[in-house]
Amino acid sequence: MFKKILIANRGEIALRIIRACRELDIPSVAVYSEADETSLHVKQADEAICIGPAVSAKSYLNMESIISAAKKTKADAIHPGYGYLAEVEAFARMCEENSIVFIGPTPANLSLAGNKIAGKKRMQEAGVPVIPSSPGSVGKIEEAKKLCKEIGYPIMVKASGGGGGRGIRVCHNEEELCEEFPVARMEARAAFGNDDVYIEKYLTKPRHIEFQILADRSGHVIHLGERECTIQRRYQKLIEESPSPRLTPELRKEMGDVAVKAATAMNYFNAGTVEFLLDKDSRFYFIEINSRIQVEHPVTEITTGIDLVKEQIMLSSGKTLDYCFDDLNKRGWAIECRINAEDPDRNFLPSPGTVKDYRPPGGFGVRLDTHLYQGYELPIYYDSLIAKLISYDLTRNGAISVMKRALKEFRVHPLKTTIPLYLQIMDDPLFIQGEFDTSFVEKFLPEEDEDDD
Ligand code: ADP
Ligand code: ADP
Ligand code: MG
Repeated sequence: MFKKILIANRGEIALRIIRACRELDIPSVAVYSEADETSLHVKQADEAICIGPAVSAKSYLNMESIISAAKKTKADAIHPGYGYLAEVEAFARMCEENSIVFIGPTPANLSLAGNKIAGKKRMQEAGVPVIPSSPGSVGKIEEAKKLCKEIGYPIMVKASGGGGGRGIRVCHNEEELCEEFPVARMEARAAFGNDDVYIEKYLTKPRHIEFQILADRSGHVIHLGERECTIQRRYQKLIEESPSPRLTPELRKEMGDVAVKAATAMNYFNAGTVEFLLDKDSRFYFIEINSRIQVEHPVTEITTGIDLVKEQIMLSSGKTLDYCFDDLNKRGWAIECRINAEDPDRNFLPSPGTVKDYRPPGGFGVRLDTHLYQGYELPIYYDSLIAKLISYDLTRNGAISVMKRALKEFRVHPLKTTIPLYLQIMDDPLFIQGEFDTSFVEKFLPEEDEDDD
């Protein structure tokens, strides 16, 4: 087992990883930017080391600085969390070169998963169903027009290196394509440093269903069931749950087997997520594999009893998997709301500030993953996710009731948050029936909140 783990992240996920380390009796090292000096992960870790100024590019994305922090503190492994360097192949390689274990997939896994065009191609070869799309990246508008005619509108222009819901544009006709195509390329270059885009058939009103994967070094891959992540705004998840109210045991088995096949086909190692879109006729298609711990991992932990962060650490230190999905006594229902410091009444404008009155929810059936505390000053530099509120119960209706009362208990005055939106959703008859698709949240938003950024 590792002697010391450095956590190359901040916020709630850094705390989540520190907790796992402590339970495994492994000392932890926090890294922080100058803007995060008073953050909870800095206070909670056994050691903490400043890695640079507030802007992420100079701190949480600064590979040299993080590697040198690991060497200085004699950490023999690094957990990257999600976002930041979690999916950066060069960082995983740099860890390797410095004899530090990168707690996550192999550099080759990261390379393939980070290139959606190549990833899709590999999946197709392995017999995994994929959405009809251009065979590779599309550089010229004339080529795009021709392909879209063949594929048939509506289509999506997607960035090959995309993530976090960015670099995606929908076009319903050729006119829209001519407008959006160059913009998509420009955006992709700005956000991901790579303007490779491809064209995919746009599925109308699908559901997003993903499977949690674990794989050990000997190539043994298992899945831990699905997460329903259909409740989204601008292609970003807001509410997730496990299990999915949409899946029958047969469909779960079929999709789970394909997810395992997908991960096996790419010699996947450690924790990952295979994402699918599911249409009204129960046809499902691979969209991407996320090669990291997922934001919404707690709903899987609660319903399976498996601590995914501890599994990641143990797999990286050589553990072999001696169980599979059918061995798990999966029970109950878990729902997660991503609480963002954003004002839903002002087009989700970020709402930073100081938390003056902090009252976290608690009680039976509640898990709160957050880095907030009374008096915490939210820096303006980072992600607006301030808490993940997870409710659970034996039934879905029970989990909804727990979520409603927990959302009502939660107070983070004077920050504006997405809590009021979630309260509305929990009361919605279609949500309660489990009848929704990826366009569900639109009806709660003002007209001007369109898909395009
Ligand atoms: P999940 O599938 O785990 O819900 P998200 O897509 O919501 O993941 O992304 C999780 C976090 O990682 C977010 O903070 C998001 O901004 C960030 N992220 C994901 N992919 C990328 C990427 N390719 N580049 C930069 N940030 C990313
Ligand atoms: P990211 O890497 O940003 O997470 P994904 O490819 O996973 O991008 O897609 C994010 C979301 O965009 C999906 O959950 C879904 O809502 C929507 N989406 C992606 N591809 C399609 C498609 N072909 N048709 C319809 N919706 C799509
Ligand atoms: Mg995705």
